[in-house]
Amino acid sequence: MSNLEVEPDELVADAQPEASIQVLEPREVPLGGPRAMTVRRTLPQRARSLIGAWCFVDHYGPDDVADTGGMTVPPHPHTGLQTVSWLFEGEVEHRDSTGAHAMVRPGEVNLMTAGSGIQHSEVSTPETRRLHGAQLWVALPDRDRHVAPFFEHAEPAPLPVGDATLRVFVGELAGSAPSPVRTFTGLVGAQLDLPAGASVDLPVNPHFEHGLLVDAGTALLDHTEIPRDHLGYRGPGRDSLRVTAGDAPLRALLLGGEPLGEPIVMWWNFIGRDHDEIVAFREQWQGEVVGGADAHGRFGRVEGWNGSALPAPVLPTVRLKPRD
Ligand code: MN
Repeated sequence: MSNLEVEPDELVADAQPEASIQVLEPREVPLGGPRAMTVRRTLPQRARSLIGAWCFVDHYGPDDVADTGGMTVPPHPHTGLQTVSWLFEGEVEHRDSTGAHAMVRPGEVNLMTAGSGIQHSEVSTPETRRLHGAQLWVALPDRDRHVAPFFEHAEPAPLPVGDATLRVFVGELAGSAPSPVRTFTGLVGAQLDLPAGASVDLPVNPHFEHGLLVDAGTALLDHTEIPRDHLGYRGPGRDSLRVTAGDAPLRALLLGGEPLGEPIVMWWNFIGRDHDEIVAFREQWQGEVVGGADAHGRFGRVEGWNGSALPAPVLPTVRLKPRD
């Protein structure tokens, strides 16, 4: 998915581990298009930029596609990150400049490593009536952020843990088989389903920080209530995590990882390390792809897309400096 905010903030992020549970509120962001599907964004926000290397959490639906128009995101670039697509309902067709052409379906993960540069399109299929899912980004560490782009797909088997059912789509959790998709820092991502009123104690890596995004129902994360559509955060330092469902069945995403420990600069769909690098990425995208100057440049080309690529927004007029 593309970050379609008209004036995206240029954001310098640094992990700040904390002991207590932080409840992060979603904000609604329109994705654009004729009927403007909106997403609920919980990362990044002023109160928190990262959970491990997870740096972007967009949550959407369930939307009736007849009302929202569904998802139509023309080719757009990414650098320095991985995109993780996870659906609860619906189907999205993905094409990218590595030549990958794949569907995203409920319970199946698509992971796209942008590395040095990629472009992709995402369109909900004509058969899709309801669209419901999450689009997540992972920042690549400095040592790996220039890797050649690649695309992976996996279908995690449901894993019962006590009363809970886990679908571990990134990393490993509670004795699950490790997800085959590649990560570059210690990272976990899983769907957690729990019946109304039930609790589960999950063994977790004490070096990881964790977030719990509540999709349906409400949750207690340890002893703190996390309302629907909110993201609960807990810092590193403990080896188990207790999740309790409220009076309705709970569905949530658990996202965790070792603190990235590197400042990053995020602007639009790019992650870099400083302002000048972001400016260069934008100029290459605008010149080589939007302007059509080079189909074999940093971002390659997307086969099978009939239409134009998404132009980048205008950069802020001030040179933004890292936040301490
Ligand atoms: Mn995207």
